[in-house]
Amino acid sequence: MKRYLYDAQSSYAVGVDIGGTKINTGIINKQGEVLYSFSLPTLAGQASVIDRVTEAIVTVLAKLKDVTQQETLKGIGVGTAGQVEWKTGSIRFASDLLPGYSGTLIRALLRDRFGLPAYVDNDVNVLALTEKVLGAGREVNHFICLALGTGVGGVVVVDGRIVHGAWGGAGEIGHMSVNYQGLPCICGNIGCLEQYASGTGIAKLMNDRLVARYGAVHESIDAREVIARWIAGNTLASEVMEEVIGALGSAIASLIHIFNPEIIVLGGGVADAGGPLISRLKQEVEKRTMSSLLEGVQLKLAYQGNLSGMIGAGLQVWK
Ligand SMILES: [Zn+2]
Repeated sequence: MKRYLYDAQSSYAVGVDIGGTKINTGIINKQGEVLYSFSLPTLAGQASVIDRVTEAIVTVLAKLKDVTQQETLKGIGVGTAGQVEWKTGSIRFASDLLPGYSGTLIRALLRDRFGLPAYVDNDVNVLALTEKVLGAGREVNHFICLALGTGVGGVVVVDGRIVHGAWGGAGEIGHMSVNYQGLPCICGNIGCLEQYASGTGIAKLMNDRLVARYGAVHESIDAREVIARWIAGNTLASEVMEEVIGALGSAIASLIHIFNPEIIVLGGGVADAGGPLISRLKQEVEKRTMSSLLEGVQLKLAYQGNLSGMIGAGLQVWK
């Protein structure tokens, strides 16, 4: 097997974004530009994740010379689903979305296989690096990203560094309670932000209201449709979105009070609602935040691009 040489001065890295359905890999440079990318299905439950990742990296490395005119690299950066034990670059816990993945020593396996330094972090944490290099975090050292997708992920950046906590599990903003008497959550807590502000949560809030009003025979709708109806002025969708915005506003106000950030970055499918969401949320945050801490804080949309996870993963090699 071909080995690739490590070059500490290299401006190129391989980025790997490991998700439950697909693995995005690519060659990026220090500026976060994608020079080549390749995706393959994870085949979770059918194939070993590390085998699929290795296959993807081999495919990408075969293009290294073509796209960079070099055969050396700064390293491999991985952003992965699951909880990452940051110091060892291993998977502390992965849900049933990736069966058999818990305990995988990703960093050591990739280092041994490719002879290159490897860096591994949670897939949401690495998004902060994409924001730092390409997005809303460029000019700031203190910011918080919220990824409003199927679930709610978060990452806190203090003094220009991602807050990892004792072993790497910090930043579970989706499981911050915004209502101690609210909806139960799978994590064990009650009233977690994820129950209100994730795509899944928004759809459930709406469908529960539809059932209450029209009975069980209505057609179930998704968060995208709820947001579209909200923007079109639908009353029921507006009730739901007021609850969503209240929950998000409460969470963001608490985060501002705790971390004194300069910017809050909103990404994920729910943030595709864009301007209307940001402007309504801004009012809510203003209402709930101490004026001294609120001053100058901006709400911004995340860097747009479907490879943002892969880019942030690769950027780890320069941190
Ligand atoms: Zn929870």
